[in-house]
Amino acid sequence: MRRAILILGAALAVIGPMLPVASAADKIHVVATIPDLKALTEEVGGNLVEVESLARGTQNAHELEIRPSLMLKLRRADILIENGLTLDSWADVAVQGANNPKIVRGAPGRVDVSRDIQVLEVPSTGVDRSMGDVHPLGNPHYSLDPGMAPIITQNIVDGLARFAPEHRAAFEKNRRAFLARLDEAMTRWTKAMEPLRGAKVVVYHPQWIYILSRFGLNQAATLEDRPGIPASPAHLTHVIRQMKEERIKMIIVEPWNDLKLATRVAEEAGAKAVVLASMVGGVKGADSYIAAIDHNVNALAQALR
Ligand SMILES: [Zn+2]
Repeated sequence: MRRAILILGAALAVIGPMLPVASAADKIHVVATIPDLKALTEEVGGNLVEVESLARGTQNAHELEIRPSLMLKLRRADILIENGLTLDSWADVAVQGANNPKIVRGAPGRVDVSRDIQVLEVPSTGVDRSMGDVHPLGNPHYSLDPGMAPIITQNIVDGLARFAPEHRAAFEKNRRAFLARLDEAMTRWTKAMEPLRGAKVVVYHPQWIYILSRFGLNQAATLEDRPGIPASPAHLTHVIRQMKEERIKMIIVEPWNDLKLATRVAEEAGAKAVVLASMVGGVKGADSYIAAIDHNVNALAQALR
């Protein structure tokens, strides 16, 4: 037995340096708050990283229940990648429970990928609770716009390279390869959306402004009369009237929101309620970043045609 182990050990020593794949123990442990950032970190980090997400694709990322299992994930993390703009502020609670100094706010392992994003819908007045769950720093749902991926992935490269400077070139190479694929897809998406420029849509939660703006669509109304607060009957009546008058064909619904209510409103207005992937993994088949955008663009094009 002992001899067998020795032989195996010797064999591994020979094979070891030839293996291009880092073993699980060598990999950089990254935790991302949301699946979009997990997907993009995997594109950039390749086989040098092992990435987990705290939120699942079908969940409401605004308010995540902090369970001990999330703290355990964070306990062994080298890096925590966060969306920022207060979307995932709950990560602070989880980090506190994880007791991992590498990823506390201000530590090199804490990476906020909203750096350099041109934020939309920044409130011009002070925000108070009567306004609902308004995002006080502006709309945080920028990862839904594929045009933001170059900035996000640059921030991820910088964050990973701070931890493992020897791999910066590899991260940059992975990023370029990913952006080349994204560019190809963007040509396809732009072509599919071109005839729909100027079309109006209603959204359930105001989560879609970045992708709508990218492709020249207009957000005419939201089903929530104030973000995060259930819609009042009076508001819904108003939205239905507006949809009829402006011949709006579509209500975009998040996987975690009330599809029944949206369907009822859509039917009364002669429109369709369609669930889009509000994050990677939000709907079936949307399990990579490009696949999620593919799904959303196809669903928009189909509903608005
Ligand atoms: Zn939001």
